[in-house]
Amino acid sequence: MNRCTRRMPVPLTLLLLLVAASTSARAQTPFVMGGVTAATGTLASGNLKVPGGTGDDGTVIPFTVIHGSRPGPVLALIAGTHGVEYPPVLALQRLRASIDPRTLSGTVVLVHVANMPSFLARTIYYGPKDGQNLNRVFPGKRDGTLSERIAFVLTSEVIDRATHVIDIHCGDGNEWLRPYSYWVVTSAPAVVAASKDLALAFGLDHIVIDTERPNDPAASVYLANTAMTRGKAALTAESGGWSRTDEESIARIEHGVEGVLKHLGMRTDGPPPVAHPVWLGRNEVLRSAFTGLLYPMVEPGQTVAQGTIIARVTDFHGKVLEEIRSPFAGEILYVVATPPITKGEPVGFVAERAPGIPEIK
Ligand SMILES: [Zn+2]
Repeated sequence: MNRCTRRMPVPLTLLLLLVAASTSARAQTPFVMGGVTAATGTLASGNLKVPGGTGDDGTVIPFTVIHGSRPGPVLALIAGTHGVEYPPVLALQRLRASIDPRTLSGTVVLVHVANMPSFLARTIYYGPKDGQNLNRVFPGKRDGTLSERIAFVLTSEVIDRATHVIDIHCGDGNEWLRPYSYWVVTSAPAVVAASKDLALAFGLDHIVIDTERPNDPAASVYLANTAMTRGKAALTAESGGWSRTDEESIARIEHGVEGVLKHLGMRTDGPPPVAHPVWLGRNEVLRSAFTGLLYPMVEPGQTVAQGTIIARVTDFHGKVLEEIRSPFAGEILYVVATPPITKGEPVGFVAERAPGIPEIK
C-alpha cells in the first residue's frame, strides 16, 4: 500500500507523457474501420456489415483504408451506389494499388461497392429487395429497408468520419452519358466553396450548378448532399455508362482522384484543376409519360435547340405515343439508350450553359 502511494508520481508522469505524445501525433494513430485497423503508412481492407431486417439478411460493404504516414484530410471515395455503374468500381480497384500509403498525407477511404445487392443482382436505379434508389434515401435509417440501412451505415461509418467525400457514378446500365459533375450550392458557404474547388480539382470540364438539393441533414436524400449538410466538402462525379468498362472512363476517374489528392495536399504530384470549366445552370431530367419502347434521337454531348426531339416512345405494336422534346436550348448530358421505358422514368438530361457562377455567401 505504502509503496504504491510513494510511487504514484512516476506513473502519473508517464501518463502525462503518453497523453502529450498521442495528442501531438493524433492524426497518425491507426485508423480503425469495420473492425479492421490500418496502421500508419499502410492499407487495410475489410467489410462494413449492414445488419439484416424484414425479408433480408443484410449485406456487406467492402472497403479499403489507405492510411498515410503523415496527418491530413480523410477523403472518402464511393463507388457502386448504383448497381450497373462499373468504371467507378474498376477505378477504385486501380487506385487501391496505386495510392502509396507511405507517401500519402491523410487517409483515403475507398468504398468499393456501396450497393452490393444491386451490384450482384445487376439492377439499374433500384435495389432488388426494396425497389428503392439508394441515392434517394440518405441519410438512411438504422432499422429501415435494406437500402435505408446501407445508407445509414455509409453515413455513420464513412461520411461522418471523412473531411471530403466524392460519390463516383456514371450513366447506369441504360444511360449513355458524357462526363460531368454536380456542384451543389445550397449548403453552408465554406462547404460550398470547398466543394467547388473539389469539382475543379477532379477535372471534369462540364459542371452542373445544382441549386435544388435539400439542406436538411435529416432528409438530405443524396449521398454527396448528406456529406455537405454535415459540413464536409463533397462532389458527385459522372464518367462512363451504358454497362461499359471502357478504359477512357476508368482513367478519367483515376485522373480526377489524382487531381483531388494534389489539391488537398495529400500528394505532391497530380494533374492541375480544370482550366476552362463549362458551368451549366438551368437543367432538366426529361421523363416519359408512357410505358413502352424508347428510341433515342440524340447523343450525349450534342447541342440541341428548344424543341429538338430527344426521344420517341412507342407502344409494343409500333404506334408512336409521344415525342419528347427539349424544353430549352442546351447540351445533352445523358440519354437513355436501351429500349425499355417505364412511365415517369428518365429519358435524358439536358442542361444550359450558365451565364456565370453564383456568388458564395
Ligand atoms: Zn448513379
